[in-house]
Amino acid sequence: VLILAIESSCDETAAAVVKNGREVLSNIISSQIALHTLYGGVVPEIASRKHIEKINQVIQEALDTAKVTLDDITAVGVTYGPGLVGALLVGVAEAKAISYARKLPLVGVHHIEGHISANYIENKDLEPPFLCLVVSGGHTHLVKAADYGVYEILGRTRDDAAGEAFDKVARAIGLGYPGGPKIEKAAREGNAEAISFPKAKISDSIYDFSFSGVKSSVLNYINNCKMKEIPIVQADIAASFQKAVIDVLIEHAMKAVEETGIKKFAIAGGVASNGTLREGMRAACEKRGVAFYHPSPVLCTDNAAMIGTAAYYEYLAGTRHGLDLNAVPNLKLGQR
Ligand code: ATP
Ligand code: MG
Ligand code: FE
Repeated sequence: VLILAIESSCDETAAAVVKNGREVLSNIISSQIALHTLYGGVVPEIASRKHIEKINQVIQEALDTAKVTLDDITAVGVTYGPGLVGALLVGVAEAKAISYARKLPLVGVHHIEGHISANYIENKDLEPPFLCLVVSGGHTHLVKAADYGVYEILGRTRDDAAGEAFDKVARAIGLGYPGGPKIEKAAREGNAEAISFPKAKISDSIYDFSFSGVKSSVLNYINNCKMKEIPIVQADIAASFQKAVIDVLIEHAMKAVEETGIKKFAIAGGVASNGTLREGMRAACEKRGVAFYHPSPVLCTDNAAMIGTAAYYEYLAGTRHGLDLNAVPNLKLGQR
């Protein structure tokens, strides 16, 4: 089974060819980061327009790199939510056009199912059930992947996503966009014990997260420094903030391990490329005899290979979408 996969939910125009779910023949990503850096974040209208300009070229490159043509493709997989509606629409319209013209089955994919499925690509032995911490720009979910395409959300953020908090704090301390990688880099030079930022507890749920509190306390800390003319040490703020977020992520993840008894733990989404999070998770898992999985950085942030993998398992499960498939900006995980 050869899947042509398309991803355009945010600011990456991406296409990939994936064989039998786990073999990536091509994975082409055209990032718009440079374009949006000018504005300090993703501008939806600009993202849509850029997707339209790039998508045909990116798909052709994916086919060429894989040394296949549309005649070889079994089905078309596409992200149809969640994400920016105008951005999603470009990929969905493109996938529908190819499906119609070439009489190929169309498989709509949930973007977060894609992020989770990225773990299958380099870990050929990984099978559900496993636990997964999804930490991306818009989501922070602690998920039980019970089976292919079957997810149970154990916990989620009540306010900001982890990646969003990285981006906002980076902006506040003058590191710019995108914040995650810049905070990680600055943090390497800083002292994580320098400032004690609060770790939010949600009283009625052991698995839910809240990151707006730590973000606010970073802002307060900066204002306070300015008022008292205390020097602002970017690296120390970055390291202390990063620690506050990562400690909570690991703590909740390990509670889920202990409560469910599941011995496999994966991480996914853009923040999963953070080295300090990976090493902390690895150590916590090892201590408990739990196998730890993570995708390589390029498969953590948005890409179409992960969509191809998710589409493959959806295809096997019989998921087929019609030409009435629409973009669903707030699509829920596990919804078909
Ligand atoms: P979603 O998947 O929730 O729709 P998204 O697609 O915008 O959101 P991703 O592409 O998965 O998000 O990830 C981007 C996020 O990951 C950004 O918030 C970015 O700051 C963060 N990120 C990327 N690299 C790192 C890193 N090394 N450390 C921390 N955060 C990172
Ligand atoms: Mg992106
Ligand atoms: Fe994403």
